[in-house]
Amino acid sequence: MKFKMKTTILYSDDLKNYDFGPGHPFRSNRFVSFLKLYKEKLGKNKHFELVKNNELASDEELEFWHTKDYIQAMKAASSGITIPNLYRFISQDNVNPISREFPKGIEKGARTVVKNSLLALDFVQRKRSEKAVNIGGGLHHAKSSYGEGFCVYNDVVIAARYAMKKYDLKRILILDTDAHAGNGTCEAFYSDPKVLFIDLHQRGIYPGTGFAHEIGEGRGKGFTVNLPLAAGTGNKSYEVIFDEIILPLAEEYRPEIVIRYGGSDPHARDEITELGLTLGGFRMIGEKVREISKLCGNKSLDLICSGYKPDILSKVWLSLITSLSGVEIQLEEPEPEVKSDEMLTETKDLIKKVKENLKPYWRSMKHYE
Ligand SMILES: [Zn+2]
Repeated sequence: MKFKMKTTILYSDDLKNYDFGPGHPFRSNRFVSFLKLYKEKLGKNKHFELVKNNELASDEELEFWHTKDYIQAMKAASSGITIPNLYRFISQDNVNPISREFPKGIEKGARTVVKNSLLALDFVQRKRSEKAVNIGGGLHHAKSSYGEGFCVYNDVVIAARYAMKKYDLKRILILDTDAHAGNGTCEAFYSDPKVLFIDLHQRGIYPGTGFAHEIGEGRGKGFTVNLPLAAGTGNKSYEVIFDEIILPLAEEYRPEIVIRYGGSDPHARDEITELGLTLGGFRMIGEKVREISKLCGNKSLDLICSGYKPDILSKVWLSLITSLSGVEIQLEEPEPEVKSDEMLTETKDLIKKVKENLKPYWRSMKHYE
């Protein structure tokens, strides 16, 4: 009998509020475009269920990571109240580029994102579905009292801490495949062995963190794995990294849940980064994460929101979701601008370096072919 897989997709109409305004790379129309393609391709597919949520995260939930001061400042700024020293709390890229104001209502959108990541976790933990996807999730740059990189509240950190507290999880694998390093997430779990944080990102771009030698500290030493990739790194390189580093580490760690996040910005045609994945590469990532999730009863969360090339974004998101769920669909690949096997030699050197750094902490990192 063929196994029946069910994936829940969390969505909210309130996501329209998560919008930095005209001229900003992060607009909320991305969510509308995705929903349209989703309905067209998967609307009647029995493996998928779309759940719309209207509930917002509470202050208590946000406080799993953010400070009270920061939450109050975001709430006030988003309702139009002038905050003295607003830039003490947020970076210049977290405001409307024209008015230079913190967008009205965005804080509500940010709470929606957090709530949906928590609900996605509940769905998976309570076995309502094996996989749960939060469209809008993965806001990995938000620090405890500082918002940056288009991220207001860090739903990844909050979901992982919620998983520890509510479900007593002690081994959470967080995989960041966004093109940018997940500085907020990294900071939260840098000394915490309850999270194995693996981060693939383009090196030398914003936020400038995520060096290979940064492997955690204290009890968390060896539990942060940074894979800073050269511009142009493509499908084959990502695949080798999964086979040489990510899968062996996951097998040794035996996670109780897998949280993957990141959208379309590592695609070759993305407009603000220079990595080289094609749709096939994203499908491969989804398949590998699906394989890893077998270590923990097929449970995984997928948080998706990034991407800065509108005509490719929805296709990438859908490729990630369907391959994670073991479902095949036809999506047309726009002409890739770089060859997908580029930077393989550089990647192999990086793998060697990463294994060297990690081998005191992991049996599976002791060998290199
Ligand atoms: Zn990104």
